[in-house]
Amino acid sequence: MSAQDWVRPEIAALSAYHVADAAGLIKLDAMENPFPLPEPLQAELGQRLAKAALNRYPDPHGAGLQSKLKTAFAMPAEARVILGNGSDELITLICQALAKPGAKLLAAEPSFVMYKMNAVFSRLEYIGVPLKADFTLDLPAMLAAIGAHQPAVIFLAYPNNPTGPRYGRAEVEAILDAAPGMVVVDEAYSAFASDSFMDLAGRHPNLVVMRTLSKLGLAGIRLGYAAGPADWIAELEKVRPPYNINVLSQTAALFALDHLDVFKEQAALLCTERTRLAMGLKALPGMTVFASEANFITARVPDALRTFAAMKAAGILIKCLHGSHPLLEHCLRFTVGTPAENDSVLAALPNCL
Ligand SMILES: *Cc1c(COP(=O)(O)O)cnc(C)c1O
Repeated sequence: MSAQDWVRPEIAALSAYHVADAAGLIKLDAMENPFPLPEPLQAELGQRLAKAALNRYPDPHGAGLQSKLKTAFAMPAEARVILGNGSDELITLICQALAKPGAKLLAAEPSFVMYKMNAVFSRLEYIGVPLKADFTLDLPAMLAAIGAHQPAVIFLAYPNNPTGPRYGRAEVEAILDAAPGMVVVDEAYSAFASDSFMDLAGRHPNLVVMRTLSKLGLAGIRLGYAAGPADWIAELEKVRPPYNINVLSQTAALFALDHLDVFKEQAALLCTERTRLAMGLKALPGMTVFASEANFITARVPDALRTFAAMKAAGILIKCLHGSHPLLEHCLRFTVGTPAENDSVLAALPNCL
């Protein structure tokens, strides 16, 4: 028997998460913050990391880090927090904890691919409810699916990736009221968005607000966090690997939270650039540009494969969404970069359409 014969068929049928090679290209495919840490801070961080206790296992709960996150991001006192090796890991832990036989995971789609992937990994039945063509939520369809399927967990990205818009707050509240199980409001893009559910974390019995430091400018350290009611978080803690946040990441995160103003300034600049990039894209013929409250802009072009390839040949790596979901036909996703990188996009694109 070969390896494939031993592996669960639904796993054997998958292909591993593909990360495009960006060598030599302007990298605008993965919603990274394009700005490096300012040099004086690099030096200070270096000193802190040099002193980190690498011989010891990390603080198992990242308790110092948790309380700092609670203060920095204004979490309600009632909220309990769990840390993940990226919010990717939190999605995995939630699915592991809730995967009773027959349990279901419901998500609007298209959305973050790891929701569906983790449903497969954990043997949750996946229920996808299509968004409307303009990527707004189809609330009646969501409520009908919730009623029919009684999902153990619902994932809502707020704002949504890979589309850009943020759903209406009242719509998400209606889903919170209707949901029998956990509702995860995934706020990976909170640094760029005009609304958040963090004010309800720990106060609404079914709500877990999940976030990450990745899009803010720390994708490399892999730190996600989720805030919610004590009873839900206590169950998730049972499946969390004891030392999932390594010493270097904890040290770097504590340092970064002392300098949050730097990251907030960068995020504000990226929001200004988002507006400028959107205006430039809208001015081009044949483009449909979708609203975005994240650090990327999704747009439909006449021929996505052609434009993607031509942009790459021009030295710019974006994300081609065409083929990943019927609603994303001929869509491309542009991460907002530095002003110079965005200039390059706007200069190259007219020749790539
Ligand atoms: C990027 C992203 C994540 C994952 O973030 P990590 O913390 O880097 O794992 C989660 N949810 C959404 C919607 C994202 O776009």
